[in-house]
Amino acid sequence: MIIEKAGKIVEGLYALADIDLPAWLVTAETPALFDAGITFMGPAYLEEIRRVLGDENRLRWLFITHAHFDHSGTAPYLKRRIPGLKVAASRLASEIFKKPNAVSLIQSLSRDYEEQHKTLFGSEDIRFDSLEVDRILEDGETVDLGGGWTFSVIATPGHTRDGVSFYFPNIKALICGEAAGVPDRNFKIHPEFLASYKDYVASLEKLAALEVEIIMLSHYCILTGAEARSYLKRSLESTFAFSGRIRSYLAEAGGNQEHVVKRIFKEDHQDTGAIQQAERPYLINLAAKVKAVAENK
Ligand SMILES: [Zn+2]
Repeated sequence: MIIEKAGKIVEGLYALADIDLPAWLVTAETPALFDAGITFMGPAYLEEIRRVLGDENRLRWLFITHAHFDHSGTAPYLKRRIPGLKVAASRLASEIFKKPNAVSLIQSLSRDYEEQHKTLFGSEDIRFDSLEVDRILEDGETVDLGGGWTFSVIATPGHTRDGVSFYFPNIKALICGEAAGVPDRNFKIHPEFLASYKDYVASLEKLAALEVEIIMLSHYCILTGAEARSYLKRSLESTFAFSGRIRSYLAEAGGNQEHVVKRIFKEDHQDTGAIQQAERPYLINLAAKVKAVAENK
């Protein structure tokens, strides 16, 4: 099944507020949030956390897949509003959050969305000012949230260098950021190898070996059952097809990466209208993907 609405996924697991942005709440004995959307969603997440948990102060942990603005955006706001909340991320992500340049980029990319959604936060201070990571997640470790809810941390670099995925064996559920690409409104899967094509394929192969019944994709939908079981293989196929397309466009353009970016932007974003991502982050990401293939990274 393809779930396109936020809300309860299964007992104890919720997609918060807006299915287009990742924020997954596991109630467990030790309630935890996984990823934290874009800045402007802060007050909406807080309200949902309060509604599901009864008291937002019961939320103990926020686990972040990677240091992108649309996965970590509300983390500083939630930390300000929930003083006991602790943040966990990979070592690399924790280092990225310490860099003033990275914080400026997060602020800058968030601003376009904040402009469009002012009514969602009003006068609340939703700023991404800084983010301190309280716990470093290691590849292969198991985290126990109590009540039968454990999950393993799987390093999945390739989309970014700092990426990790989370796998819950009790319900065979996977939270993977964009390590397995992003489907558009026509359910075409867009591969997201921004940092390294080779690492991305290796990570995706690792995920494809898992038994999955639920995949929480970061943007647009959640997959369950047959759709979940077939997705990771389809995602790998899309990855091979897309890199092949970039290679052939590069050959036609005499290696000019900018030409290839413009051509794919027109064909995939402008002509189809199926991609929800705003133009600026889409183009930044597309340029990175073309570069990863061109430089055989
Ligand atoms: Zn990302």
